[in-house]
Amino acid sequence: MTIMDKVKTDSLPNLLDSIPADVASAIIEKRITTLTQGIVEAMKIMGIPSSVSEKVIVSIDYTQINANPMVTKIGKDILLDIPAIFLFTNDDMSPNSPLAPLIQRVLLKSEGLNEKEKQTLAVFAECNQQPELAERAKKFVIYHELAHIYHNDFQPPENLEESRAREKRADLTAAHYSDALDGGIHLFKIMSKFVDTQAKTHPTYPDRVAYLTNFETIKDLIEEIREMKMGDPG
Ligand SMILES: [Zn+2]
Repeated sequence: MTIMDKVKTDSLPNLLDSIPADVASAIIEKRITTLTQGIVEAMKIMGIPSSVSEKVIVSIDYTQINANPMVTKIGKDILLDIPAIFLFTNDDMSPNSPLAPLIQRVLLKSEGLNEKEKQTLAVFAECNQQPELAERAKKFVIYHELAHIYHNDFQPPENLEESRAREKRADLTAAHYSDALDGGIHLFKIMSKFVDTQAKTHPTYPDRVAYLTNFETIKDLIEEIREMKMGDPG
């Protein structure tokens, strides 16, 4: 069995087929492969059993510009929606990029962008100013979503408090497993700057920055203590 057997991936939407640029679709297909391999790897690292991971269907959402992937349970399947924005970098935004026609249609939309979409693109642009951190930000967010699968967060929460507690737990689980904590902090700091109204189902972005920064300090401290012990000749 190959590793890819564990994740069923939606085929590229017709949208892509309609663009007469083989180069573009080859690039995108390669990025989707990297993304799905990362998801398979993450589920292994987190110890999500194959009886669960084989139910995961990854779907790339080209229909809207948002920064939030989402997991939902549909019957026996677990749908992991990844916004198309996760496949792109700032370089792709250049008019000379082979992906320019696709960007024009998917991200810049001929019918124009609403305020929320503009906000998302501003976050995207700022986040990508530091490309390595941006990659780890995406990684963190994907681990956050997988953490909802890990914790079986599929029943609707009783109230907003429970919802926020679940979100915090998903953040801390992502921090623990992803090795991309700095990416999460990077993203939420930028979100704090650009996003003015926020869903009450989640902790606020400044709160998320605060507890993740605290997590990083504790993690560093544990590492330091470990090294001290290892270096101790007694
Ligand atoms: Zn969440």
